[in-house]
Amino acid sequence: MRAIITYHSIDGSGSPISIAPEVFDRHVAWLAGSAVQVESLAALIASPSPAADGRPRVAITFDDAFENFGAYAWPRLRDRGLPATVFVVSGHVGRTNLWGSRSSPGIPELPLLTWDALAHVANDGAALGAHSRTHPHLTELAPGALADEVAGCQQDLAARIGSPVNHFCYPYGDVSPTVVAAVGRHYALACSTDYRVLRDGEPTLRLPRLDMTYFQHAGAFDDWGRPSFLRRIATRRAARAVRAWWTRR
Ligand SMILES: [Zn+2]
Repeated sequence: MRAIITYHSIDGSGSPISIAPEVFDRHVAWLAGSAVQVESLAALIASPSPAADGRPRVAITFDDAFENFGAYAWPRLRDRGLPATVFVVSGHVGRTNLWGSRSSPGIPELPLLTWDALAHVANDGAALGAHSRTHPHLTELAPGALADEVAGCQQDLAARIGSPVNHFCYPYGDVSPTVVAAVGRHYALACSTDYRVLRDGEPTLRLPRLDMTYFQHAGAFDDWGRPSFLRRIATRRAARAVRAWWTRR
């Protein structure tokens, strides 16, 4: 089984985007143990084959590039040899997650990594991905603005960090065929918020992920990849779909 896991911020606020440091430490201990094989996002997608020893395969992603990725999460992953991809909102680097100058209920305003700090984690082995310039709902944009958010973020990262970036992550998981086509002109892989594990032959521009907000309780990983785990994922996915439908009405 292959899965991509998602984190946002590692902090003790208890918000929907936050995982407490002590919970994250527990996750890292599990990821570094022998239960799963942790790979880069590119490697996970390049081959659908099971790991040689049959272990489940996992890639780790962080959305928004919070300062606490560089200060807390990345050193702990790196020290255990665990690769990770961090998705950067290029127009907010060195600022905060106050997207569109409007705060979201229950979401704390937190500092984001600076360009220097991003260059540091990139030199240190973290993979950088693009997460748009300003974190808008991409499906609501006119074609010119959409192209600017998608291609512009890649240009900003190339100009400031110097390395080509070909991974993208849709802000809010907001996606449509038009948005996917725009992203596919510039990127090889793109992550959504569709909550499930990977299937064989998965379209590389709409990759599903598992948000770690649902894995904070003790023992959350104990049945990883087993039928009970897959049933729990399916139930949660259905509940998320109902909630999304209600909030769109
Ligand atoms: Zn985001």
